[in-house]
Amino acid sequence: MFDLIIIGAGPAGISAAYEAQKLNLNYLVLEKNLIGYTIYQYPVGLTVFSTVNELELEPNTLFPAREKPTREELLSYYTRFVLEKNLSIQWEEAVGAVEKISENHFVVKTEKGEYESRKVLFATGAMQHPRRLNVKGEDLPKVHHLFRETYPYVKKHALVVGGGNSAGEAALFLAQEGAFATLATFRKDWEETDPKQGCIKHWVKEPLEAQLEKNCLDVFFLGGVVEIKEREIVLEDENGNVETLPNDAVFILIGSDADLTMLERLGVEMKDSKYGRIPIYDEETFETNVAGVYVVGHFTEARHIAGAIEVPKKIVPLIAARFALEKSA
Ligand SMILES: Cc1cc2nc3c(=O)[nH]c(=O)nc-3n(C[C@H](O)[C@H](O)[C@H](O)COP(=O)(O)OP(=O)(O)OC[C@H]3O[C@@H](n4cnc5c(N)ncnc54)[C@H](O)[C@@H]3O)c2cc1C
Repeated sequence: MFDLIIIGAGPAGISAAYEAQKLNLNYLVLEKNLIGYTIYQYPVGLTVFSTVNELELEPNTLFPAREKPTREELLSYYTRFVLEKNLSIQWEEAVGAVEKISENHFVVKTEKGEYESRKVLFATGAMQHPRRLNVKGEDLPKVHHLFRETYPYVKKHALVVGGGNSAGEAALFLAQEGAFATLATFRKDWEETDPKQGCIKHWVKEPLEAQLEKNCLDVFFLGGVVEIKEREIVLEDENGNVETLPNDAVFILIGSDADLTMLERLGVEMKDSKYGRIPIYDEETFETNVAGVYVVGHFTEARHIAGAIEVPKKIVPLIAARFALEKSA
């Protein structure tokens, strides 16, 4: 019987594992893909927007070549951290179900086995379901819901749909490296400057504007995407006019949603927030209405890597204190 099973080995799961290890808890992390898989999926060569102190698991341990780390430096940092601290993580093992048997007794089921635990912490992030436009042609092989790299699209007509930073960065990579790049976005997203609204960050927007001036990028102010065809894309502009553009590749980067199914099956209550549907949890302990089930990371309101790392530092000691209390009772 484990004290704590942590599901997911992103920054939140790694931070929780490190805390559990320091407190001598008998813990295990189960990760569906790879250590830091969300970061692994960032575009190749991306420089992240967070500062070093927001990304570090321990102060003064991350040393990027420039001011901010690249995807590769960050992924290397988290992977080496896991290996050097000898954290107990089993990757390429997806959790398919969690059942509550009784107080302090959960069964966590994967495709490889079943594990028993007194508490369960979900650190599964919010990347499982990339949002779809639900338009005709969206299942064509040239349509992607993730942007990895630009080189297959040099001198090709590549169109990015989206208004946030991921869409802006993809359009910039494509424009800078020789694709015929178009960013199809709503005007209000392009003109938004409040970072809290999830707009394109100014250090992405400014080089995008430079690409626009050099005619290496087009910005199309969308009414909507009408249809994606083999060699073209049909768009409606902000005034309702329909235009057909030549097209070889489409990147639909309009956000993604968490998979809350396992939590819902456990009976965890959900609410609508500005981030979409999220679990309801105690703001101090991050425990849900189902006793012994905790949530941390990007599908809670403590988002981004800084929140994903900080919250486990606070709540895993509370879980350990609960164990001590239960033992002495
Ligand atoms: C392109 C891009 C750039 C970004 N840049 C930044 C940045 O500069 N700064 C910043 O703070 N944030 C950034 N973010 C957001 C950041 O990646 C997330 O906030 C962060 O990864 C959240 O950490 P997490 O541990 O909560 O979730 P994740 O990192 O998403 O980790 C969740 C893990 O759970 C695993 N998992 C899911 N389901 C299961 C299951 N059933 N069984 C087992 N494992 C499971 C997943 O495989 C994954 O590894 C960026 C995001 C993108 C897409």
